[in-house]
Amino acid sequence: MPSVPPHATLLPAGSSACVEIDLDAIRDNVAELGRRAGSAEVMAVVKADAYGHGVLPAARAALAGGATWLGVAQLEEALRVRAAGIDAPLLSWLYPPGADLAGAVAADIDVTASAVWALDAIRAAADTTGRTARVQLKVDTGLLRNGAYGPDWTDLVAAAGRACAEGSIEVTGVWSHFVYADEPQHPTVRRQQERFEEAVRDLERAGIRPGLRHLANSAATLTNPAVHYDLVRPGLACYGLSPVPQLGGPSAYGLREAMRLTAALAGVKRVKAGEGVSYGHQYVTERETVLGLVPLGYADGVPRHGTNVGPLLVGGQRTRVAGRVCMDQLVVDLGPAYAGGAGDPVVVFGREADGEPTAQEWAEAIGTINYEIVTRVSGRLPRVHIGGED
Ligand SMILES: *Cc1c(COP(=O)(O)O)cnc(C)c1O
Repeated sequence: MPSVPPHATLLPAGSSACVEIDLDAIRDNVAELGRRAGSAEVMAVVKADAYGHGVLPAARAALAGGATWLGVAQLEEALRVRAAGIDAPLLSWLYPPGADLAGAVAADIDVTASAVWALDAIRAAADTTGRTARVQLKVDTGLLRNGAYGPDWTDLVAAAGRACAEGSIEVTGVWSHFVYADEPQHPTVRRQQERFEEAVRDLERAGIRPGLRHLANSAATLTNPAVHYDLVRPGLACYGLSPVPQLGGPSAYGLREAMRLTAALAGVKRVKAGEGVSYGHQYVTERETVLGLVPLGYADGVPRHGTNVGPLLVGGQRTRVAGRVCMDQLVVDLGPAYAGGAGDPVVVFGREADGEPTAQEWAEAIGTINYEIVTRVSGRLPRVHIGGED
């Protein structure tokens, strides 16, 4: 048997589990995306607490890697980035009527207008703050999520023309989002690209300089240079996960995973054959064996659907969840020869290159996507950031 590397963890003293975030990986991934983007700028998408990696350290690492823009969904997220003193260009795209647009305009956040009501609210915010609002216009090219669709786009362009003329706004960009970026040959990709270019021409015809044109998320950044335009908008790939796992893992694209979910084994027990394990006895031991207790559960973001299927690495050895994932803990079957004990290192997911289970493996095991595995990791776990400049 080859000896297995220990897969050490970096648990803070007294913690039974933690999320490790490698900020140098984020920096290097963004630099790699920048190389692939050629002359296009990189907007690192740091919404949802940077996909669970911690928005402020992740944003700083992305900027250190050469990102010239940051992107978030919600205004609150954008305001949090500004409140921390990060002054890079920053785009936000999702807010309801009544949102704090004046706060956003005052903080020099680019706000997206997907409808005339939004543009009116932005004009009011410009009025309140006495500033010219920086606005990016979003066209719906077929995803049918946000973005102005059909005649609403025509109305939005006309309203933007008037707002520019009165000086309340400046258009800094025009953008859209793909339906099937992860299938670059899908016919919708080409159709959305054509619709996007038409929208840019609509602006030019209305006498509006479109500013930055952008359409590409991670998958399109990696697989479709024809849609890079002036800026690319990767999220997932910044964190070292592949947006196109069917085409290749992170290393195929020069990326490495930034997040590891780790723990220390909370106990072991030797049990007889034929014993049921955890709630509902969904797992029954086939032979005498050693069970390990992992102090992580669905309240920490380990999917309950990982019951009997989720992969783990315990004491350097591959295993799976045995029985139900509970709220705070889960059990693994380590086999009769397991010689370790409480305190042994556990990796729930981490780096493929080190032979650790990955977020992608978890996604496949439970029928979801790697995005969900990293973003669902709970705030109750300590984050340990390694690398970076702070
Ligand atoms: C989340 C998001 C992105 C980033 O998508 P990835 O697939 O993670 O690269 C880009 N643009 C918009 C509008 C998004 O909502």
